[in-house]
Amino acid sequence: MLVAGRREYVGCLAGISSAGSAASLRLTSRGVKVRKQLDSKWERMKRHFDCRASAVSTDMIRKYVIECQKKGMANASINRDLSALKKAFSLAYKSTPRKIAAMPVFPKKLDENARHGFIEQAEFDKLYSHAEGLWFKTMLLLGYTFGFRRGELLAMKVEQFSSVERTIRLWRGATKNKRARHVLIEDEGLYQLVRACCEGKKTNEPLLKRENTLSAPIVDSRESWYRACVRAGLGKFVCLECKKDVTETEDGWHCEKCGNDLIKHQVTYDGAIFHDLRRSAVRNMVCRGVSEKVAMEISGHLTRSVFDRYDITADSDLREAAKKIAAGRETSVYSPNVGVQNGVQRQSGNA
Ligand SMILES: [Zn+2]
Repeated sequence: MLVAGRREYVGCLAGISSAGSAASLRLTSRGVKVRKQLDSKWERMKRHFDCRASAVSTDMIRKYVIECQKKGMANASINRDLSALKKAFSLAYKSTPRKIAAMPVFPKKLDENARHGFIEQAEFDKLYSHAEGLWFKTMLLLGYTFGFRRGELLAMKVEQFSSVERTIRLWRGATKNKRARHVLIEDEGLYQLVRACCEGKKTNEPLLKRENTLSAPIVDSRESWYRACVRAGLGKFVCLECKKDVTETEDGWHCEKCGNDLIKHQVTYDGAIFHDLRRSAVRNMVCRGVSEKVAMEISGHLTRSVFDRYDITADSDLREAAKKIAAGRETSVYSPNVGVQNGVQRQSGNA
């Protein structure tokens, strides 16, 4: 058994290092999640935090932040690194016996630049027309209509759709925040698409599957997304070396500036991301008169911060407000020539 003390290495906290006692660390389901989160980041963090957990100080964490910023890492990525590390510490601290004697104080989160990518209806229609495959068209339309997350869509099973009720149900556990929710499909086109996706499939099969393969569910939909976005003008491929646009060739890409023919790993995608659909879906709902509360229920947002973060306000609300502001005075009393016409006469001594 592990003794409360000062002997744990940071790498052992969430069982990510193979050293020492880590092997004997029994992980709870939450522990496994933290471990996965930290695992992918540990490669770059381990040089910095290769020490005993008790030796980690706030200064040390700050130094890590500065080092990451010097390397040009995005604030959002640094925040994710630190939050995974913090969770690992917290798990170790909250266990009995404690695996660390105290939690280090973590510095405040860095400001993140929230993406403001919205996909307008016309842009979406273009994107949709360039989408290939029934599964991908359905995925796009579901994402843009209800704001489903990519993971939720890819994990969706045939049995979650009811063609009689015209509903899609997301069960507890299938969603990111572990809350069940369901949506009603009104659009006939979308309804037919989903129905077509279910055709000839068993109830426990994935709703979205590549048509030409019998095999496995889709793990990665990014290829399809990139291709459709590039064709629809919502994204482009750039050269990893010089960051300049590349032209598509028969078997890859070509960079004018570097004069090289490039393959998949030498280019990077720059443009709209799938999550933009989710943001846009929420905005569309609210702008089209769905209340914030219902929009949150449909999209599965737990807090209304999404509305603040992206400044989403219903057009109808703004119009209503503008009318009310203007209605304060029956007719406009302002004109460019005179100060105020028929202005309220102030009586002396009544200021
Ligand atoms: Zn280049």
